[in-house]
Amino acid sequence: MDDLIRGYRRFRETVWPERRRQFERLAEHGQRPQAMVIACSDSRVDPAMIFDAGPGEMFVVRNVANLVPPCRPDGACHGTSAAIEFGVLGLEVGHLIVLGHGMCGGIRALLEGVPAPLGSFLTPWVRLAEPARRSLACDPADSQLACEHAAVRLSLDNLATFPWIAERVADGRLALHGAHFDIRTGVLAMLGADGTFAPV
Ligand SMILES: [Zn+2]
Repeated sequence: MDDLIRGYRRFRETVWPERRRQFERLAEHGQRPQAMVIACSDSRVDPAMIFDAGPGEMFVVRNVANLVPPCRPDGACHGTSAAIEFGVLGLEVGHLIVLGHGMCGGIRALLEGVPAPLGSFLTPWVRLAEPARRSLACDPADSQLACEHAAVRLSLDNLATFPWIAERVADGRLALHGAHFDIRTGVLAMLGADGTFAPV
């Protein structure tokens, strides 16, 4: 915790004076981010750092393996779906990006099983991506990366099951994007119309 407090003090000394006006404007007028990002909780994949975005620019939800569940308005506590609802209907973002990444522990857990004592919550969560795992042409050497890519495609398909997302995509108010960040090389790849990921 001491490291974090030292980091906070550096923030107050160096970042805050430079950004103060920006924060005050955001406090006064509210946030109007143009994009929403759905990213993994992995500590190595920070969307604000990758896109060099400042406060107010991106609405972000992070979860294990950057998964979007299908639309299930059943009254249960769907944290990711709640964030998506707020981003799309509340903030009216124009772009929604599902950001996958290399060496994703959540995807590895889907492929190899969730190691004990974990599992009560993680096992059903990563099983959301089971259709992605099943869609793979089985080459074990490539399965991790292929499954990370397939899970991004699946999340984009699941986004389209939310009727208000499908409606906004159809009339051009919202664009959906798939992306994948390679931790080792720092290269971002975007999902193209041909269904493959290519470096930006
Ligand atoms: Zn991950």
